[in-house]
Amino acid sequence: MKSDLSWLRANRLLALLDDAVLAALAPHLQPVMLELRDTQYEELQPMRDAWFPAGCVLSMLAVQAGADSSVEVATIGAEGMLGVALFLGAEVSPGRVFTQVQGGALRMPADAFLRAAQEQPAFARVLQRYAHALMVQIAQGAACNRVHAMEQRCARWLLQTHDRVPGDAFDLTQEFLAQMLGERRAAVNQAAGQLQQAGLIRYSRGHIEVIDRPGLERAACGCYAVIHDQYARLLGDGRAAQE
Ligand SMILES: [Zn+2]
Repeated sequence: MKSDLSWLRANRLLALLDDAVLAALAPHLQPVMLELRDTQYEELQPMRDAWFPAGCVLSMLAVQAGADSSVEVATIGAEGMLGVALFLGAEVSPGRVFTQVQGGALRMPADAFLRAAQEQPAFARVLQRYAHALMVQIAQGAACNRVHAMEQRCARWLLQTHDRVPGDAFDLTQEFLAQMLGERRAAVNQAAGQLQQAGLIRYSRGHIEVIDRPGLERAACGCYAVIHDQYARLLGDGRAAQE
């Protein structure tokens, strides 16, 4: 086990660390399979683990006070990790986090995670830089939701998810997409319909296929590129996620 650390490098933040640091983290990282809609964090509940996606995609939601709805504030795949709030000293989660696309992840108990961040400066530096990239994603996303057209935002969200899944197709119901974008289903339907008519995606029965990626990039607002570039800088290779 100690000689082969390649299973940890499926997460691209962990892949930034050298063998000695990875070997110190390895005994605390447990590989798990996450299923669609599994919950990692509940709103205002203790965060018991940090998570390093290695195939799965997680969605971070802000719950609207007084309303039975929530809006996605960030998407987390193998380019990132869930646990920045823990790293920054919080004990309870501000929002809800659940599995948007099923797949593998590495789970690390909160106490081991915090100890490793103290004892391994290289690990702490990666977490700091990731925290910054995540902050840009959240801030840009908030501005985007306020000012950009539904169709552009829909294209941005689809690109973000496409970056984080293997292949060109993924499951997505209209209800789910509406929740991700914080919009009514009818509006999301219309936007997805326009993208489909333009020949950029194929969308049927809860299933999305990206068929013209460059076209989808042109249909998205500039927010996609701003967020993508932050992750590319963090990961140092011009790719925000596995492609
Ligand atoms: Zn935008």
